[in-house]
Amino acid sequence: MKTGIVYLVGAGPGDPGLITVKGLDCIKKADVLVYDRLASSRLLAYARPEAQRIYVGKSPDRHAMKQHEINQLLVDKAKEGYVVTRLKGGDPFVFGRGGEEAETLVENGIKFEVVPGITSAVAVPAYAGIPVTHRDATSSFAVITGNEDPAKEESNIAWDKIATGIGTLVFLMGMSNLSRICDKLVQHGRSPDTPVALVRWGTRPEQRTLVGTLDNIAEKAEKAEFKNPAVIVVGEVVKLRDKLSWFENKKLFGKRVLVTRSREQASALSRRIEELGGEPYEFPTIEVTEPEDYSPLDSAINQLPSYQWVVFTSVNGVKYFFNRLKVLNKDIRDLRGVKICAIGPKTRESLEAYGLLVDYVPGEYRAEQIIAGLSGRVRPGDRVLLPRADIARKVLPRALAEMGARVDEVTTYKTVLGAGDAGKLIEMLQRKELHVLTFTSSSTVRNFVKLLNADNLQQLLKDVVVASIGPITSSTARELGIEVTVEAEEYTINGLVEAVLKAVSK
Ligand code: SAH
Repeated sequence: MKTGIVYLVGAGPGDPGLITVKGLDCIKKADVLVYDRLASSRLLAYARPEAQRIYVGKSPDRHAMKQHEINQLLVDKAKEGYVVTRLKGGDPFVFGRGGEEAETLVENGIKFEVVPGITSAVAVPAYAGIPVTHRDATSSFAVITGNEDPAKEESNIAWDKIATGIGTLVFLMGMSNLSRICDKLVQHGRSPDTPVALVRWGTRPEQRTLVGTLDNIAEKAEKAEFKNPAVIVVGEVVKLRDKLSWFENKKLFGKRVLVTRSREQASALSRRIEELGGEPYEFPTIEVTEPEDYSPLDSAINQLPSYQWVVFTSVNGVKYFFNRLKVLNKDIRDLRGVKICAIGPKTRESLEAYGLLVDYVPGEYRAEQIIAGLSGRVRPGDRVLLPRADIARKVLPRALAEMGARVDEVTTYKTVLGAGDAGKLIEMLQRKELHVLTFTSSSTVRNFVKLLNADNLQQLLKDVVVASIGPITSSTARELGIEVTVEAEEYTINGLVEAVLKAVSK
């Protein structure tokens, strides 16, 4: 059998956007992913579904797997012929023991590559508004392990030299030795007034920053119960934070926002949340699949020229309709002369992508509004095709029928319950790690409740902001015992995001 390869990949400090292009590529092509707690779990979502995911979680006080066992694991998996991606927090060679892992691989004749990552030593201060160097403040910085007990007789750290010889000092893994580190620096001549910043869980929604001086930071940290994982930054550059803080000022900073839409549709909302400094957590409550029976749709497609209107009520409807059109060896020419209506701007855009112009989009994006708009446009006797989901509301076909139209409502795609990890979600809610829930349709609410299947739902959602895209979704939520905090004024993703912003700024 062919021997595999090991990629030692830096995953960055936490914000999943801070992985390199090459690193992401290694995640996507891995057969086996070996990771620990500092690597963002959101990055794992990029792996192939069938990839083996092995947690070897390490933290300063607990070794889920000993280092030599991790080394052996990498060797064994590569010898089995797999592409192994070893994801490590920050950069693999900055206090990540990546050097040791690489040595073991060499000793065992295993091919490996290193994909450097963005180290927390630089990125975490940056996310707290602290540049590690600045022409006016310092022209050198050092990254030092804070793991070594400074009281130790034989130190590997030249405290006498670094205390005054280097501008900015960045300590990793130093929280449990904080007071001794500060003492040692002062003992060796650094001014007790030197500014110090502690940044915990940098680049994540949990990021917290505490600022003091060598003299008082240890006491402050104890009072604030400030713990690992944190970066300790010592030096004049810390003062720049007052002016340069940016991440912590973002409108959704600190908020983890649940996105309940189907995987295909989640990305636009997730991207907006990220741009605003929040962290989207995707939990698709809906999965979209093909209908069990295509014959109603096929028969409609075969008589397309006999329709006066086709009304699309979702992007999925458009996608599955055109997929089927192609399967039946047809294209947009079969829609010649047929008028097209789209329920909203996204649906319109997806139609335009097929080269079609849309004849009518209502000003407000729901069935009731379509009805008002179509009533002057659809004439009695017109044939109207409605390619929709299996569980779509009946309001629209009924109203069209009342206008005298002959309506064919055909199932074009099917929605099924998502398969996300509800147990993990419940844990996150219990630990207050989720701050906002978003619902973009009645089905997302219904499926969310079904998937969680928790009798203490109200309790779980007590401090959570619940945002709904519109009145129909809100009323479904209320019927199911979920209190809606805020409702979008415009029934679109942008409207929903605006509503979330309004709720969290209160
Ligand atoms: N290879 C990693 C460092 C591993 S040592 C890197 O290059 O970043 C682990 C230490 O890194 C932690 O104890 C903490 O000091 C620091 N660290 C890593 N990620 C961090 C984060 N998101 N916020 C604060 N500190 C972090």
